[in-house]
Amino acid sequence: MNRESGHMREASMQYQGFATRAIHVGQEPDPLTGAVTVPIYQTSTYAQEEIGRHKGFEYARTHNLTRFCWEKNLAALEAGNDQKAWGFAFASGLAAIDTVMKILSAGDHVVAAEDMYGGTFRLFEKILRRFGVEFTYVDMTNPSAVRKALTPATRMVYTESPTNPMMMLTDITAIAALAREANAIMVVDNTFATPYVQQPLRLGADIVIHSATKYLGGHSDLVSGIVVTNRSDIAEQLRFLQNAAGAVPGPFECWLCLRSIKTLAVRMRQHQENAQKVAEFCAQHPAVRAVYYPGLPSHPQHELAKKQMHGFGAMISLELGTRDKAQQFARSVRVFTLAESLGGVESLVCHPVSMTHASVPKETRDKLGITEGLIRLSVGIEDSEDLLEDIAQALQ
Ligand SMILES: *Cc1c(COP(=O)(O)O)cnc(C)c1O
Repeated sequence: MNRESGHMREASMQYQGFATRAIHVGQEPDPLTGAVTVPIYQTSTYAQEEIGRHKGFEYARTHNLTRFCWEKNLAALEAGNDQKAWGFAFASGLAAIDTVMKILSAGDHVVAAEDMYGGTFRLFEKILRRFGVEFTYVDMTNPSAVRKALTPATRMVYTESPTNPMMMLTDITAIAALAREANAIMVVDNTFATPYVQQPLRLGADIVIHSATKYLGGHSDLVSGIVVTNRSDIAEQLRFLQNAAGAVPGPFECWLCLRSIKTLAVRMRQHQENAQKVAEFCAQHPAVRAVYYPGLPSHPQHELAKKQMHGFGAMISLELGTRDKAQQFARSVRVFTLAESLGGVESLVCHPVSMTHASVPKETRDKLGITEGLIRLSVGIEDSEDLLEDIAQALQ
């Protein structure tokens, strides 16, 4: 059965603007009742008219209309109007990454970024390596390091941009060209940027991954993941793997994502406006040794950021010098909350060494600058005056 036939809510027109697509693609009023929001199809199975005859829906791991609508929506946001793309939703960001990696087989080689989400590194090293997949970690800011790491067995180049927590960028166009030359699939974890800020498929990547737990969900109230590709051969494999490995999200998570995506554009505009103010304030503060944010002219890849991003995101890392000072800061903030995760409307602070990056070896952390004094901010959409005041008092 062709899964496309499950997409009954075909867009009646092509929407040019990002915010319009976010609100309308996959979200046309329900043909049965006129409901303006997509219903939550909370069912595991579907009645069949007779043996071998049904409406294209058989079993909910494979077919769920709430999920299809969400997948179609995000595909339209990552690929734009002029490209065909396919979305595949998962139970978490890591389930999405795990399923993408199942495209590979034992003996395949991956060139991956050395500065990555700790959970991705743990999945690669502690699990996938046991299945015979080989990894080489490189500095993705340096195309010649990537070129040098490619081998005849390389089937994938895997990166994040901006990275977590050092906010380094991958020149996606340049690295995707290298991957293509080597016949390798280019994968970009776009969680920190979101499709509002950056669209890797349009820069040459083959697969985009999101932890929807972060900005796409946007309210710190769900765990989910999603993958988009514009290559039909990869879409075919992902469709098979999504069903065969089965790490699908429930319909309620998909519905929450659809609800949240409608405000992605306005949220991201406010996140970025606040983040720029926070970054500039911290850059001139004597207690802050370094600010890592692509929106500052002092960022070594500021020009690249201007070229491949629409804005600079809202994740900022600060070097405060010592663990004591980081601790003091985390203890003193009142508007910011000390917590893992990011991308919600509320501002969060985290200590990567002891929280998100505890599973990254110390040697790698030292090399990257993930020190005891480093703290990471996820700048929310509260009033910027309150955020600046909070940071000022916490730095005292
Ligand atoms: C959180 C995160 C993940 C993992 O997503 P989960 O939804 O927590 O499984 C992957 N990549 C990045 C960049 C993340 O921030």
